[in-house]
Order: sequence, then C-alpha cells, then structure tokens
Amino acid sequence: MKYYDIALPVRLPKLFGYKSSEEIIKGCRVLVSFGNSFHTGIVWQETKTVDSTLQYKGILEVVDEQPKIAAQLLDLADWISKYYHCSLGQALSAMLPSAFNIQLQQQVRLLEKKQIPESDGIPEMIFNELSSLNWQNITDVKTNLNTKSSRLNYWLEYLEINQIIEIKRVYDAKIKKKVANFVVRNKIVELPKLTERQADAWQIILTKEASFPLKDIIHETTRPVLKALEKKGMIRIEPQELNETYFVLPSSRQEKIVNLSEEQKTAVSSIIDSVEKHEFNTFLLHGITGSGKTEVYIRAIKKCRDLGRSALMLVPEISLTPQMVERFFNAFGENIAILHSHLNDRQRWEQWNKIKSGECKIVIGARSAIFAPLENIGTIIVDEEHETTYKQDKTPRYNGRDIAVVRARMSNAVVVLGSATPSLESWLNNINGKYELLTLTHRPLSYNLPTVKIVDMRNEVDHKQLLSKTLRAKIEEKLEAKEQIILLQNRRGHSSFVQCISCGKLFSCPHCDISLNFHSHQQELLCHYCGHKINMPRKCPECGSYMFSFGAAGTQQIEKILQIMFPGARILRMDSDSARKKDSYDSMFERMKSGNVDILLGTQMIAKGLDFANVTLVGVISADISLNVPDFRAAEKTFQLLTQVAGRSGRGEKPGEVIIQTYNPDHYSITTATKQHYETFAAKELILRKALKYPPDFKIARFVFAHKTEKILKEQTAKAIPILGNLRNTYPPKQLLILGPVPAPMVKLQNNFRYHIIIKADSYKLISHVVSMLNEHLKLSSSVKTSIDIDPYNLM
Ligand code: ADP
Ligand code: ZN
Ligand code: ZN
Repeated sequence: MKYYDIALPVRLPKLFGYKSSEEIIKGCRVLVSFGNSFHTGIVWQETKTVDSTLQYKGILEVVDEQPKIAAQLLDLADWISKYYHCSLGQALSAMLPSAFNIQLQQQVRLLEKKQIPESDGIPEMIFNELSSLNWQNITDVKTNLNTKSSRLNYWLEYLEINQIIEIKRVYDAKIKKKVANFVVRNKIVELPKLTERQADAWQIILTKEASFPLKDIIHETTRPVLKALEKKGMIRIEPQELNETYFVLPSSRQEKIVNLSEEQKTAVSSIIDSVEKHEFNTFLLHGITGSGKTEVYIRAIKKCRDLGRSALMLVPEISLTPQMVERFFNAFGENIAILHSHLNDRQRWEQWNKIKSGECKIVIGARSAIFAPLENIGTIIVDEEHETTYKQDKTPRYNGRDIAVVRARMSNAVVVLGSATPSLESWLNNINGKYELLTLTHRPLSYNLPTVKIVDMRNEVDHKQLLSKTLRAKIEEKLEAKEQIILLQNRRGHSSFVQCISCGKLFSCPHCDISLNFHSHQQELLCHYCGHKINMPRKCPECGSYMFSFGAAGTQQIEKILQIMFPGARILRMDSDSARKKDSYDSMFERMKSGNVDILLGTQMIAKGLDFANVTLVGVISADISLNVPDFRAAEKTFQLLTQVAGRSGRGEKPGEVIIQTYNPDHYSITTATKQHYETFAAKELILRKALKYPPDFKIARFVFAHKTEKILKEQTAKAIPILGNLRNTYPPKQLLILGPVPAPMVKLQNNFRYHIIIKADSYKLISHVVSMLNEHLKLSSSVKTSIDIDPYNLM
C-alpha cells in the first residue's frame, strides 16, 4: 500500500491522508470520498509518516496518469494558501477551471448476496433493490430506499469493500462537446430540376461555407425546402460538433506597423533587456492615457515569442473587447488564447488544454488567467494594474496583480505593471526601489491632452440644476459642431433613495442595511446590493402621503434631463442596467464608432478604454460621488476615475476639452487630476496614508463574521476580545492596531448580520502572525461564517 496527502477543496487548512495500491505522481487528480460526498483531490505528496493508529480510506479512482498541474502552479498554490490563509485545496480550486472537478455518475450492481453481521436491515434493503444482471444508477437506488444518506453511504462503501456489490464510476467532466445540426453541401455533377424556392435556398447555401450550422439558414428558408434539397442529393443535414468561437476574429491579419516614440523605445528596450537576461524584474510602466502603453506590451510579447518563450497578459474584464482582441490578433495571429468570464466550462477547459499542450503560447485574460498553465514564461503584463477587479472577492481573496509578481519570480520572468494612475502600493514599491519605473509622458502623433475646466457648483445660481451653465453651453456647442460627447455620472438608477416628505419614512432593503435606489425606467425600488426590488409605491405605506423626496441623481435621471434639454440629440445610456445583455457593450461601441450617438452617458463603465477620435468633450456631472464614500481609498479612486475619463477626450486631431463639476473644487484629488499630475497626487496621498496608518505603508487584514442572529454573533465574536488583548499588549500601537470586533459599516447584508475585525500592522509578517493566532485560538460555533481578507479593498 502507498499513502498520499491529498489537497481537497474544503475549508480545513490541512491535507488528508488516503491510501492506494497504485503509484501516483504529485499533481494528478484522484477521486475520494470525504464525509458524505465525493471530491476531486490533487495528490500533493506521498505521506511522510504513516500514522498506524489511523484508518486510511482508499482512493476510489486515479483520474490522471500524468500530472495535470505543473510543479510551478503547485508551488503557487502553496504560496497562496500561506499568504492568504486558506487551505491548499481552496487555493487550487481557485486556480483550476471548474471542469477539473470530476462529475460522477455512479452505477451499481449486485455480485453476491451474503449474510451481513451486525446488519441494521439496510444491506438487505439494498439487496432487494439491486440486480446482478443490470447496472442501476446509484441515485435511483438511493431515492427508492429513502433512508438517511450517511447510513446508506456507509453500507454501500462496506458492501463494495467486501465485494458484495460492484460500483462503476463514470466521469462526466462538464466538457461534453455541443452538437448541432449542420448543412453540408454535396458535390453536384449535374444540377437537378429545382422549384423556385429550392433554387433560392440553393443560392443562399452557395454563399456559405461547405458546411455550416442549420440555424444560420433556417430563417431564410424552411425545413421542407431543405429536406427536398437533401432528397435531391444536393445537401446533407447531419449533426456535427459545434465549434463555438469566443470572439469573431477577422478573417485576415493586418499588422499595423508603428514607429515607436523615443519614450516607447526606451521602455521597450529596458523590458527586452531583462527578458533576454532571463531575470526576474518588475517594471512599473506609468504612461498617461493614450500614450501607447499597449504598443509597448505588444513589442515585449513579440520578443518573448521570438525567443520561444511564452507571455501572459492580464487586463480588466471590461477591457477585453473585440477591438482589443482584434489588435492582438493582428499582432500575433491565431495562437493567442483568450480567457474571459463569458466562457462556459467546456470552452475554458479547451483553452486550458490548448495552453497546457503548448499550442497557445500567448494568453490574454481577466484575473484568473494568471493561473494559465504556461511554461517558460518570458513576461507577465498587467494592464491597468490599479484596477480593483484584479482582487477576487471570494476565498481565496487574492489580487491577480500581486500573484503576477509572485509567479514571475518563480519563472524568472519580467513583470510589466502598466497604468496611467498606478496604485499607491505599486508607486511606493517604485519609490523604495523594488520596481523599476518607465514613463510615457506624451501621446504619439503629438495629440495633446485635453484642457480641463473645473466648475464650482457652489456658485451655480440654481442648485437643483444638475448641469451647470458652462457644461450646458459646451454640450450645445459640440452638438452644433457634430462632435461627440461623453458624460460621466458614476451612479446608476434614477436616485439613491426615496423618502416620504411628511413622515420621513426612508425606503430601505429588508435584507440589507441600506436604502433602496429608485429606478424610473422600471418604476422600481431596487437594492444595489442584493437585488431585492419592490414596485415604486404611489403613496407612503406609513402615512398615506403622496409626496416623496428623492436622493442624489443617477444616470436615469440625467438621461431624462438631457432629453428635455437637448431634444434633437441622440443619447445613449450605458450602465449595468442597460448593459445586461452580453453584446450590448459591443453594440454601444459600434454605435459610437459609426457616429450614431451624440451623447454617451454612463457610469465608470465608460471611463476606460474607449478610443473615439470624434469625442471632443468629456463632462463629469458630479466628481463628488466617489469622494464622499467612507473609504480610505476614496481620494485615490476619484483621482483614477477623473484621469481615466478625461483621457477619453481629444484622442484624434481635434483638441479635447473636459469639464468637471464639483462641490469640492479645491480637493487635491480633483486639482491634480485636472492636470494629470500623478506624482503630486501620489506624494500628498502617501503622506496622509502614512499618518493614518493605512496601506501602502501599513498592511491590513480583515476578518468578517456573519450570522442570522445579531445577539449570537455579538456573543460569539466577543471571544476574540481576550486574544486581541494579548496581542495588543505584546505589540506597541506604532506596530499593530486592531479594531473590533465591531459591527461592520454595512451591518446587515442579505439577511446576515456582520461584525468585523480590522488588523493594521507595519509588516506583512506581523499581520500574518496575528491572523494565525486568531485562526488558532478563536473557536466559534460552526454557524458563524468567517472569512479572512488579506490586503482588503472592501472595508464595508
Ligand atoms: P494606451 O495603452 O497607453 O492607452 P495605446 O497603445 O492604445 O495607448 O495607444 C493609443 C493610440 O495611439 C492607439 O491608436 C495606437 O495605435 C496609437 N499609437 C501608439 N503608439 C504609437 C506610435 N508610436 N505612433 C503612432 N501611433 C501610435
Ligand atoms: Zn409617510
Ligand atoms: Zn438588499
């Protein structure tokens, strides 16, 4: 017998011992029973010391002959589990496509009836259900028996081990091919006589590929017509595998040759130097919006390709547009793999295997693409490295950008972190000499940055007006000139709350501790957190009054105002309400590009990536929305948003203008953003963060505890007080600060009450120690849900 330590996707932070007669290699998948269910586990290592007092269960199936996961990714899993304080199994399941998990269909049959000693009657019941001739689905047997499943599982396992029954396990790895009917054209020697409708259909068929999905033609003709063509031997209709393409790639590549600017050349040659030396190095590429960062990435990846090495590029999900894909397709052709969240399990699995086999050596994708099974990586690029979407919001709460640096170190690869507004974490690493700075200060082809004007809303005569006189006049001017306008209002819906004017009733979510937003299009009140909605009441349910006051304006309200103010203008609203459908972003893009929109109005969704030469005005309706959020990163987020959205203006030959409306015209995040003075902003912000003991100088970790009953939650979390007291006594406040346990700012979410503990320390080492101490000593009832967040972005 051999003994193995297996990583299982469960919370318990340890490995589990199982035995097998087979020799299994580290990194292979196995199937084991655990508790009352089955899990796909990863063989971590051979057990070093077998505990003779333990009863080891047998491994049910060895799924892979060769390791599915390379040693480097196992090392990365190990790093993640230690850094983020999660189990190895949790780390691995975040890294691997979900099709990795074996889905079981089990069948069972009887081998030989036997007397069972100490039977409780269940084995006999099982015998009665089974036959020795036919395989039966285990789930059917279980349903028929209708007995406590743990008992049933116990006896099934017992009967199998004693060779009384036989169990057959069939894998269904979520990766079945999709099949659909195809029309296949036959070789025709002589054209038979056709009716008019058949001839029409034949003409259409001739314009298509030799074989194409039936659904592509069914709307242009009818089934009987196609059947008739089939009878006459002209086509066949047969099932074929559907080869879904993820993006429609253009049919031919058009490589765009650009002459790099001096700044771009310097950046590229620094990166290439490091790649050639095969050394780990991290560059921070700080380039203003539209300065040609992507061009630098493309050159770096080309170098890797020429050296036979692979390359990985992370982009925020929203930037993964067809235009972006087309640009990389033009540069690299078909051997790029695109990993985005719209892939289904099978597609993701296919891409994964293509990468693993070496067919695709260039990977572009959102956050989890950082775990792509590439070998011999030359460079890892993280575009818009400051984006919070790189942070995963469930366990393990990793940051893809930080993993990029760790993985590059393991691969001796070069990291390029690119942004117009670097995160302060990365900026501090640059100041401390950990990262090497590369800068792009100009836009190529001497297109200038737009001119920016701040409008102080306190000076507006009519405070209820959401659009200042200045902005209104500018919009009119641009409409006249047939130039395009982008307006940002970073709040969706019509207004942020609804309140009864006479009795003061505020409509709030019954499941969460927040007010409901009014959505005028649907005439609904909607919880932006859990999605709970009610119809907008006609009168107050408390006092019967018909008069309501409405909170701060969202995009729907602005849209209405614009429609009234500029009746002729073609207005397009873009927010997560209007962008429900998968292709709405693309169709928005097309409409803007073809000039069918005069005013594009939207939330932060429109602040990034858009590159339209005819946009000459960007207006920010209220710069204060992100500033007023109670979050230590509020100023940073405001600076980023304003800089990004301002960068949408003046990207062509016509000069661009930006108008920012605010009640805080002197706030440093706004004044520096208008001049795109990142360094001034960062210097000021770093001082403030340091004074308040916030990242990047200090490290943070957060425990969140959740329970249905606040009283129990309060009692349970109070158990942390003495543990935290000890820690506070051991480390002085200049090293360690602990807040809590206290109610979280959003104390109730989705019917759960939430308390949290926030730990601030001057080193990661100390943070990690404190988290370990709490994990070890804090023993809470299992009904309390606990989650750990290292380097959290969300403190609400
Ligand atoms: P960023 O990624 O910094 O926003 P891009 O790489 O997308 O910038 O460049 C913005 C635009 O400028 C793109 O249309 C790109 O093709 C073009 N561009 C970039 N570098 C050059 C160059 N050296 N010469 C001419 N055009 C360039
Ligand atoms: Zn009322
Ligand atoms: Zn809610």
